[in-house]
Amino acid sequence: MRVEIDPKSGFCFGVVRAIRLAERQLASQGSLLCLGEIVHNGEEVERLKRLGLDTVQAIDASLPPAQESILFRAHGEPPVTYQRAQELGLRVVDATCPVVLQLQRKVKAAGERLKPLGGTVVIFGKPDHAEVIGLMGQTDCQRRVVHSTQDLEGIDFTRPIECFSQTTMSPTDYRSIANAIRANMEKALGSNDIPLVVHETCCSQVASRQEQLVAFAQQHDVVLFVSGKKSSNGQMLCRICQQANPRTHMVSHPEEVQESWLENAEAVGICGATSTPLWLMQAVASRAEEIGKAHEPQLPVGRPCSTR
Ligand code: SF4
Repeated sequence: MRVEIDPKSGFCFGVVRAIRLAERQLASQGSLLCLGEIVHNGEEVERLKRLGLDTVQAIDASLPPAQESILFRAHGEPPVTYQRAQELGLRVVDATCPVVLQLQRKVKAAGERLKPLGGTVVIFGKPDHAEVIGLMGQTDCQRRVVHSTQDLEGIDFTRPIECFSQTTMSPTDYRSIANAIRANMEKALGSNDIPLVVHETCCSQVASRQEQLVAFAQQHDVVLFVSGKKSSNGQMLCRICQQANPRTHMVSHPEEVQESWLENAEAVGICGATSTPLWLMQAVASRAEEIGKAHEPQLPVGRPCSTR
């Protein structure tokens, strides 16, 4: 059995940057708080915890005493969180991904344009995702998080709209939402000359993986998609692999790989999300190889052959 790790899978540069920043701080100060899990991968969170990175869920009175600094992860935070950190005298180690930072600035600018016109900022994403919460906090203009076309109800389509996507959403799904908004506006305004701006904000690190993943999934009999179950980018990319190859299984740990999945498989592909560390994909590959070896046909053991 051949086991291959997808060379394009693994941490995106935003996550690599956040982890390096955390490791650098930990090397100099020994311990650090992180607001929310630094990456949606329990194994990597555990590894960093052993180095001194403690995850907290909020900046409030529940924080452990005598803390000096707090890390904001790649997803970014709304301005109010920076304010809270400042009030508590915490130094912010800011690991917000530069792509997310740019998106936050765009949302803020759109809010400033739309507010006097009674328009709406629409954000396509998951309402409870940290990045979306960070984006929503950039403006006090009328704004709406949309995850499906049903969420469009109640938007004033007669006023200008600017759309943005959470960086890890599928560009195809974003296009469908934007088309539905366009159709609603054309109907409401009775014209196809409508004040709609659709910003291209899906992250290229995620979008470019889709096509490549389809090819990778099709080249293997079985695909083991390694990802934390909470990763939205992991769920989306795993779905793409499953569509390309129904023998795709999502695993978070090597122990989850079931022997029955690999039956009669000659080629097994290991891939993952932008939050999946390489060392975890390697551990899953070793487990698959172990299973493969255990099921290799054994040569019959006979009597030593004799030429006389
Ligand atoms: S997926 Fe893209 S936007 Fe999100 S952290 Fe990674 S590089 Fe940054």
